[in-house]
Amino acid sequence: MKKLLKEWRCRLFGHRMYEEVFAERRYSFVARSRMPLYRVVREHRCDRCDKCDRKILRSDIRRSQLLKEGWFIER
Ligand SMILES: [Zn+2]
Repeated sequence: MKKLLKEWRCRLFGHRMYEEVFAERRYSFVARSRMPLYRVVREHRCDRCDKCDRKILRSDIRRSQLLKEGWFIER
């Protein structure tokens, strides 16, 4: 019931979205070196109804590439 109300508020006033960008670590078990690979994910999430748009910005890159591309720099 409460959730329904929240969804109605989103429908009336629009979602209250916030953006989150983070790196996810994935292990590739195929690779011999077991080098962890990362992917950069951007999520637009609504804090009222938990609607979520997820977009993968970069996938399967190494840590050094992450650093080089500046993904760890805080804003
Ligand atoms: Zn919403």
